[in-house]
Amino acid sequence: MPATVTLPALLALYKIDRDLQTLRVGLDNVQKDQKRQQAKIAQLQADHDSRDTANKKLQADVSSRELDMRTRQEHIEKMRGTLNTAKTNKDYSAILVHISGEKAEVSKLEKDILEQMQVVETASAEIASLKQVIAAEQAALAKIEAEHADKVSALQTQIDALETKRAEAAKNVPGEALRQYDRVSQKYPGDALAPLEYDEGDLDSVSCGACYMGLNVEHLNALRSRDEIRRCNSCSRILYLADMMAQV
Ligand SMILES: [Zn+2]
Repeated sequence: MPATVTLPALLALYKIDRDLQTLRVGLDNVQKDQKRQQAKIAQLQADHDSRDTANKKLQADVSSRELDMRTRQEHIEKMRGTLNTAKTNKDYSAILVHISGEKAEVSKLEKDILEQMQVVETASAEIASLKQVIAAEQAALAKIEAEHADKVSALQTQIDALETKRAEAAKNVPGEALRQYDRVSQKYPGDALAPLEYDEGDLDSVSCGACYMGLNVEHLNALRSRDEIRRCNSCSRILYLADMMAQV
């Protein structure tokens, strides 16, 4: 790979990435409403699911109490049946005490079950109406998606085409230069390069065109004489000269 292609190749790549970034931001803006709506639905759905789970748990609890109550009622019937076979008054009274204890348990269970069933019923109604709200929000989302579909697909087509071009352009950049460029791009998407700004009459006023940090004139001399990567000492963008860009 001839070293002399580094900066022009990087600049070509940079121009594509700049356009790509503009398109991606545009796409992002178009999809913002959609994403907001999706997030709203996700939150409602999570709320619905957690309430539904809690309600099902409560329903299971009601069922197990109902079973407990029926078991105790059967036990009471059985004990009543044994009253006739009680041999002594003491036995008879003991059975009656047992029965009345069970009856107290049953009536407590009855009361609890009724209360719980009311809670389950209220929650079920709330969950059902939440489900309707979600359906309405989903319909709203579908409407937004339909409205944006053309814009999104036009932008996406442009992005896809540029991505293909980008892959080609990236092949012309030497490996190490591309590695550095991609790293800076992660920090500044579509904005990894900066023009070196200077005044020919006052070479003490060299600066980075992106962050405006004053830079050593050595950067200018290097860029003019060698095709190599120079980075801004402050923002670490890769520096280039304006006339290089004009040639790309
Ligand atoms: Zn800078």
